[in-house]
Amino acid sequence: MRVTIFGTGYVGLVTGTCLAEVGHDVVCVDIDQAKVDALNRGEVPIFEPGLAPLVQANRDAGRLRFVSDPVESIGHAELIFIAVGTPPDEDGSADLQYVLAVARTIGRHLEAPVVVVDKSTVPVGTADKVRATIAAELAARGTLVEFEVVANPEFLKEGDAVNDCMRPDRIIIGSSSDEAIDALRRLYAPFNRNRDRIVEMDVRSAELTKYAANAMLATKISFMNEIACIAEHVGADVEMVRQGIGSDPRIGWHFIYPGAGYGGSCFPKDVQALSRMARQGNCDTHLLDAVETVNQLQKGHLFELVQRHYGGDIAGKTFALWGLAFKPNTDDMREAASRRVLEQLWAAGARVRTYDPEASAEARRIFGERDDLVYCDSDHEALKGADALIVVTEWKQFRSPDFARLHAALADRVIFDGRNLYHPDQVETAGIAYYGIGRGRSI
Ligand code: NAD
Repeated sequence: MRVTIFGTGYVGLVTGTCLAEVGHDVVCVDIDQAKVDALNRGEVPIFEPGLAPLVQANRDAGRLRFVSDPVESIGHAELIFIAVGTPPDEDGSADLQYVLAVARTIGRHLEAPVVVVDKSTVPVGTADKVRATIAAELAARGTLVEFEVVANPEFLKEGDAVNDCMRPDRIIIGSSSDEAIDALRRLYAPFNRNRDRIVEMDVRSAELTKYAANAMLATKISFMNEIACIAEHVGADVEMVRQGIGSDPRIGWHFIYPGAGYGGSCFPKDVQALSRMARQGNCDTHLLDAVETVNQLQKGHLFELVQRHYGGDIAGKTFALWGLAFKPNTDDMREAASRRVLEQLWAAGARVRTYDPEASAEARRIFGERDDLVYCDSDHEALKGADALIVVTEWKQFRSPDFARLHAALADRVIFDGRNLYHPDQVETAGIAYYGIGRGRSI
């Protein structure tokens, strides 16, 4: 099928590439000319495992094109996807300016019937706004063209996005139009072969489903971080507790890892946006507000452990910091826990030597060059001249360090482990003080 995708970020690029991979004819449109130019040179501007070779193969096969001019791409499409950002507004609500700008563009140039598919995460009622915006532009042109607006929220995970897109758990289609649902069923048929993964529902329920999914996952994380806080105060080890509860299938193993707080481009903004949306509907959100509060507190906790160890004085200290991305296997640093830790360390007069396998370029873009930050090319280089180590992102390569080497490298012989990667005994046996999250022995 002929597909146009607005927005060539983590969602748009991965979706477009996977649709091309199964044989669809895809045009990706982005207003960021530099991004389009890079993609047309064969460079993939984000790090996502497995994505670059797929982009290349489908470009070479002529099924995947990148443009910045939307006009031709709108004429091309049977289906137009909206996959642009929905960042938080000043009050935490989802900012719809990019979504509605795309709707205006579609309305200004649409000549033939089309299904508009909203993949961006948007508040309930947005499909109605998109529909009204397109209709207003068509009316202003005195043109009548049939179109449908479908809610089709995206559930891919950065770091495993290609896999999620090729083998989705579920495909939510929110629409009351049989024709539109049929078009999406045909589009997704290659991803829907061994069982029916498609869940059809009304538009508003589909829009809310995405927020509910992310809010549920964020709730699990904040719950576990609160248990970690309790464990720390009562002298228990949250890692033991995690194993004790995860084995209950009603609870499960996923998303019960305590840590340095959730980040990324989705959970923080989606929890906030859901809560603001609820309030606009006069609905209280005690649980969601607590989830957010716990997360805010948790993001400061690693630094509190550092302060506690040093008696509140870290001025002049140098910290090796492993991991900048908000989670492993991505270069995304939006709302990453590392950002808060860095700001706090700098504010207290400390210096940082940092290493991340993929996110250093993004960190350079955010922080630039500064005297109190050194970007290192390896985890070992980050240790040179460091007093202590802080681990913020659980990249696999940080999981089994040579503790004898750490003992030799770290002047103050202390590790602050924001992801509970290490066993306290293992670290302490090596002669290094250890602080984890929710490990009662660390107070
Ligand atoms: P992103 O910031 O990586 O990419 C958005 C892209 O849209 C940018 O390249 C930007 O230049 C482009 N854009 C903005 N306005 C445009 C316009 N008028 N025309 C064409 N392109 C335009 O965003 P993302 O992470 O891909 O997220 C997109 C949406 O999907 C958001 O609503 C997000 O909440 C949702 N989502 C994201 C993820 C994720 O893991 N990143 C997962 C599921 C859902």
